[in-house]
Amino acid sequence: MIETKGLLIFPKWLVTSPLEHPKEGYGIRVLNDKIDAIAPANELRSCFSHDEIIERPEQVLLPGFVDAHTHLYGILAHGIPLTKSPSGFMPFLEEFWWPLVENQLDSEMINAATNWNCAQMIRSGITSFYDCTEAPYALPGVLVKQAEIVEKWGIRGILSFEATERVSQMNGELGLSENIAMIEFGKGKGSLVNGLMCFHTTFTCSEAFIKRAFALAAEIGVLTHMHCSEGHYEPHAMLERNGLRPIEYYDRIGVLGPGMLASQCVQIDQNEINLLASRSARVTHMPLSNCEVGGGIAPLPELVEAGVTVGLGSDGYITDFFEVMRGAFLIHKASHCDPRVMPAGLVWHLATAGGANALGLENVGCLKPGWQADWMLVNPKLPTPIEQHNLYDQLLLYCNASDVDTVMVAGKIRKMNGEVLNANMEELQKSTQKEAHRLWKKSA
Ligand SMILES: [Zn+2]
Repeated sequence: MIETKGLLIFPKWLVTSPLEHPKEGYGIRVLNDKIDAIAPANELRSCFSHDEIIERPEQVLLPGFVDAHTHLYGILAHGIPLTKSPSGFMPFLEEFWWPLVENQLDSEMINAATNWNCAQMIRSGITSFYDCTEAPYALPGVLVKQAEIVEKWGIRGILSFEATERVSQMNGELGLSENIAMIEFGKGKGSLVNGLMCFHTTFTCSEAFIKRAFALAAEIGVLTHMHCSEGHYEPHAMLERNGLRPIEYYDRIGVLGPGMLASQCVQIDQNEINLLASRSARVTHMPLSNCEVGGGIAPLPELVEAGVTVGLGSDGYITDFFEVMRGAFLIHKASHCDPRVMPAGLVWHLATAGGANALGLENVGCLKPGWQADWMLVNPKLPTPIEQHNLYDQLLLYCNASDVDTVMVAGKIRKMNGEVLNANMEELQKSTQKEAHRLWKKSA
């Protein structure tokens, strides 16, 4: 039903885009699922005197976060027992992640993790996310079950299955079909939850398979996602195999372009950065998980400088998006020995509109009339004042998920006064712990 009664939100500070200055004394009007108007608070009050009002005179209203790369199931591996630490990126996959996590997952485990994470994402102010499920033995049908859970939480999600020929060619085909089924599920009913095409890497998929994934995606009009050069292994293997680095290889086989969403891109060189920029490919950056797996430090400032569309992701490692932003803000300053790189406003941009652009989400990531009403109110309880000149730094450095007061996705409130709505956190924790325990037992 189309409603004419709107909702007015009056914060102390309004951020419409982190690339612009925060505005004081402004408000927004939400009508149905969209932002209807942005104006000085007194103008909105007099024009729309019958609307409902949320008054937050101490808080900051910002676009919701876009977690542009996560693995919802990954939460189940937090704290998993290991006999020894993997000695590098490839041993991380071969000795740990593939045999002990991905290969053991079933749909029930993934569903429990999806439920937990949807509540956690809303808690953290994430209003949109892209997820990549990697569970070759959970096929088929795992994505649509996940999609139904995400729909129930009312968060904007893009779900995909990481098709790989690592197990078998047939399993790879099942993975591609899983993505197509998910894309059809989303398209069919105009859901907040959609799909895209996804395969693993150049070292687990053949050239024919990669080309097929891109061709299927182009036919349906969706992006194709892959992990790319997360550590030294992939560029070394590709150089040995055909004398090309992975991005050069994708270019040579004719798939590098605006339809490509490459996550990680840690060990890439300047020529690959230039190629990504000139072909308008999209990249996602995961500062914290790059540290976790010992993959290295991605050339994020160089990617941004070259004009590549970049989003920020949690990788399912640490889901508080303020922590993820701090990673992107701090790590590159240290690696460049220069405190000027990756300023706070730019990191906020990557965490919001950058992610939306990378994922191809239309009218998401900024607050503008006619755009989706996806926003959060942050309640900073800091010992020093927040002013126009320091707002992005203060919030990025000193706030956390627990400071997110209210969250709206597509015009519906999903968190209010610090509480995620319809979430029994105790029950969610219990069921996630039960499934984590089952996974750990299976992989022991
Ligand atoms: Zn990943």
